[in-house]
Amino acid sequence: MTKRAGVIGHPLTHSISPNIFAAAFGAAGIDATYEKWDTPPDTLDGRVNALRGADFLGANVTIPHKEAIVPLLDERADVAKKIGAVNTVVHEGDKLVGHNTDVAGFARALREDANFDAKGKYALILGAGGAARAVALALIEAGASIIYVVGRQPKKVDKLVVDLKPLTPSGTTVTWAYWGDGSFLRMLREEAHLLVNCTPVGTAGSDTAGQPAVPADLIEPRTTVFDLVYNPAETPLVAAARSRGAPAFSGGGMLVYQAAESFRLWTGQDADVDAMRQALRDALGA
Ligand code: NAP
Repeated sequence: MTKRAGVIGHPLTHSISPNIFAAAFGAAGIDATYEKWDTPPDTLDGRVNALRGADFLGANVTIPHKEAIVPLLDERADVAKKIGAVNTVVHEGDKLVGHNTDVAGFARALREDANFDAKGKYALILGAGGAARAVALALIEAGASIIYVVGRQPKKVDKLVVDLKPLTPSGTTVTWAYWGDGSFLRMLREEAHLLVNCTPVGTAGSDTAGQPAVPADLIEPRTTVFDLVYNPAETPLVAAARSRGAPAFSGGGMLVYQAAESFRLWTGQDADVDAMRQALRDALGA
């Protein structure tokens, strides 16, 4: 029986997950398809229940369903509980289990692509959504000293910090700043070892296309810059950081690694990340 997996989100026009997973299944010789399941919010229930069919491996979950899907699942793995959001559903026996592979995906990209050891470092995260939560947790687990989360909505970013507090050991401080206030600019210029953009600013085809999430002149060569945006392959923030001599990485590596982790959860096998990376480059025309 051909196995089925796919991505649940709305809208899904620009998703390149099907290209990446087709490469992974092909390289592993697994008979499986990966589909785009465009799911408006009022149809989420039915879509999730369909995953209980014998041919379904599971699904990836993206905007706007990462939190809404939680009550529709039977169980959640630890990391998904900590983050409060699910990006991967695994069909295990008669259960649907929620996971979050963004934490492992970011941690691997930071370690393997950027060769960055976060232990004792000062990190600044832009954005306060689901990806920011995943990145903050990965940095807590890696032993960062200060994690500064910068958001547009004080209530939302404060809640993120409060939610992460019980997971934060004594050597780590998680704190926040309001985007409109200049204090984070000082931290960025004077102290940050790592800047992670967890907003969509700079995404190709969006109304912020071509704009770096922060201007180049605020980036010091000492700061490693990580942009979760992966389209275009060299994002405006990555180009800005490189123009200042700072090491910079776009979100393509994390995208592949978090997908590889979903693949491992569905199949029990390690994914061929080189084949997935090539599929990503082909899809982006890079
Ligand atoms: P999300 O939950 O919608 O959060 C987005 C965050 O960005 C929110 O805090 C939002 O602020 C902020 N934001 C949006 N537009 C902004 C702007 N113009 N200026 C300043 N802040 C802005 O989305 P998410 O799931 O966290 O994803 C965030 C980004 O990461 C997306 O581009 C997504 O594609 C990318 N991502 C990449 C990977 C990867 O593997 N590379 C994995 C996950 C996510 P408000 O709260 O005020 O709206």
